[in-house]
Amino acid sequence: MTATTQQLKWQDFLEFIQDKCSRAEYQNWFVPIKCIEEREDLVVLEVPNIFVREYLLDNYKNELSDFLPKDVKGLPNIEFILREEQEVPKAPIEAKPPEKPAQEDEKILHLNHLYTFQNFIEGPSNQFVKSAALGVASHPGKSYNPLFIHGGVGLGKTHLLHGIGHYILSQNKKLKVSCITTEGFINDLVSHLKSKSLDKMKRHYRSLDVLLVDDIQFLQNRMNFEEEFCNTFEALINKNKQIVITSDKPPSQLKLSERLIARMEWGLVANIGTPDLETRVAILQHKAEQKGIKIPSRVAFFIAEHIYNNVRQLEGAINRLSAYCRMMQQEVTEEVAEETLSEMFEKAPQNTVTVDGILDSVSSMYNVKVSELKGTSRQKNIAFPRQVAMYLAKEMMNDSLNSVASSFGGKTHSTVLHAWKKVSKQVETDETLKRQILMTKRNLEA
Ligand code: ADP
Ligand code: MG
Repeated sequence: MTATTQQLKWQDFLEFIQDKCSRAEYQNWFVPIKCIEEREDLVVLEVPNIFVREYLLDNYKNELSDFLPKDVKGLPNIEFILREEQEVPKAPIEAKPPEKPAQEDEKILHLNHLYTFQNFIEGPSNQFVKSAALGVASHPGKSYNPLFIHGGVGLGKTHLLHGIGHYILSQNKKLKVSCITTEGFINDLVSHLKSKSLDKMKRHYRSLDVLLVDDIQFLQNRMNFEEEFCNTFEALINKNKQIVITSDKPPSQLKLSERLIARMEWGLVANIGTPDLETRVAILQHKAEQKGIKIPSRVAFFIAEHIYNNVRQLEGAINRLSAYCRMMQQEVTEEVAEETLSEMFEKAPQNTVTVDGILDSVSSMYNVKVSELKGTSRQKNIAFPRQVAMYLAKEMMNDSLNSVASSFGGKTHSTVLHAWKKVSKQVETDETLKRQILMTKRNLEA
């Protein structure tokens, strides 16, 4: 085969994949890959960093095998070359002293000493962004660049940003790291403009190895400052210096120039979501421990069930509760928590609850299959969860008993009524059941 026909394998793969993923994903992950050589039995790909290789193999192994040559195990036979291995390392443009001056310490950097990776509790809502942050911190400038972290208020964006700063400095004190808020950048710019020392500021920012920028949304509607920020951004990225940005929205929703938005989408855009109940409890307990407060786990659950959109508020709740208990010399109990915190508790939006939703929640809570809940088995470990599901359906839905009953695989309305009575009675005395039902209700309403 000629070289041109051979190149088609990779081209075919790209065309196929282009339809399967979003434009941003394609731009970020596939466009930077260069196919250097295609042989009958092997394809050589040049990738900008190991993350691209891992991403490709993690997510598209089957598709790669369909299009590219395979090895004996049927896996895609690809040789990866890292771009930086090929390039002659670039000499720094500015004349630098052989040893960089020792990094200012973390205090001068305005890093909160508590915002470390160790203090960041992981859960399904933040695992991805945490590992991206760790990836960036372990190989600044060599993995995702920029890393763009977005999410709602109080979900740990600043914490992770500082975590990256701490980690990088713990690995290499000589790297020049700067952590700024967007307001800080603007203030800096204003004062340098006033004192006609913009060059000095430019030199400072462009000499950094790592720039951590918090809350980029504050750059919206600040046209004059946006351009300078964008120039700084490009200057650093072009030198493979790491940039991490946080924001309350993804780049595409920010009112910023197309140029800057496109730059911010160059690397990895990662969302930090609201933590689930277990993670919130773990965060609460961790924070309580840090403050030297003991919170019984049922109280932690109680608080986490009622405050679920904002981790900062969870912390506020602990502070308030512990202050109250200390002052009143009371023990930390659910009742006291309810009394002191009720105004902080969030009201769940009224979502429509369906039988399917209830069956799913109960099935995962009791580890039984939905088909078993709908079935007729009288085994206690199946019959009881079924009754709980029926109880929830009667409590939470406006449907008639008959319609609820038929959604349970064609039961009669008296079966549902019997289940509801039984569970209602038991819930009055059985604390575990009460908690399980409360948790399921929360999940269904969230
Ligand atoms: P954001 O910048 O997203 O508004 P912050 O980073 O300021 O939020 O976080 C608010 C508070 O919640 C901080 O005290 C932070 O330590 C804490 N926090 C948020 N997420 C976590 C987490 N996963 N583990 C531990 N603490 C967290
Ligand atoms: Mg913040």
